[in-house]
Amino acid sequence: MPFKVAIVGRPNVGKSTLFNRLVGKKLALVDDTPGVTRDRREGEAHLGDLTFTVVDTAGLEEASTESLEGRMRRQTDAAIAEADVCLLLMDARAGVTPLDKRFAQILRKSPTPVVLVANKCEGGAGESGRMEAFELGLGAPIPLSAEHGEGLSALYQSLQPYA
Ligand code: GDP
Ligand code: MG
Repeated sequence: MPFKVAIVGRPNVGKSTLFNRLVGKKLALVDDTPGVTRDRREGEAHLGDLTFTVVDTAGLEEASTESLEGRMRRQTDAAIAEADVCLLLMDARAGVTPLDKRFAQILRKSPTPVVLVANKCEGGAGESGRMEAFELGLGAPIPLSAEHGEGLSALYQSLQPYA
C-alpha cells in the first residue's frame, strides 16, 4: 500500500503546481478552468525512489454559501483523516498570512504529521517569508520551488520516513 500525502494550504500558494510536478504530467484539466469545480484530485506521485498517492485540495477560491472558515475546516479535516502526512504549503514570497496561520492552527492539533513547505523559493527567493514561517509552529520550512523543481531532495528527505 503506497502512503498518502495531502497537499493543503490557502489558494495560490502552488498546491496544484506541486501536484503536477509530483505526478509528472500536465493534466489537461486544471483547477482554474472557469466553471470547473474540483475539490480534490488524486494521483500517483514519484519522488526519487518513493511512490505515493498525492491529493491536491482546492475549492476555497469559488464563491459559496458556506463560509471560508467552514470550507477550510472541512477540507483540512478530510485531508487529516485520509492522509499519512500533510504538506502545508505557504508562499515564501507573500509571507505568512492569517489564513496560513489558521491552517497551521488546525494542523498542529491533528495527529497526522505535517511537513511545512515554503514554496516559490527558486534562486533563494523568499528569505524573509521563510523566516516568518517559523511563526506557524511547525518547525523549519522546507524551501521549495514547485514551478522550477528546486528543493525536491529536501522534500524527499522529509517524506522518506513515511514510506
Ligand atoms: P494553488 O491555488 O495553491 O493550487 O496554486 P497554483 O498551483 O495554482 O499556483 C498559483 C500561482 O503560483 C500560479 O501562477 C503558479 O504559476 C505560481 N507558482 C506555483 N509554484 C511556484 C513557484 O515555485 N514559484 C513561483 N514563482 N510561482 C509559483
Ligand atoms: Mg490549485
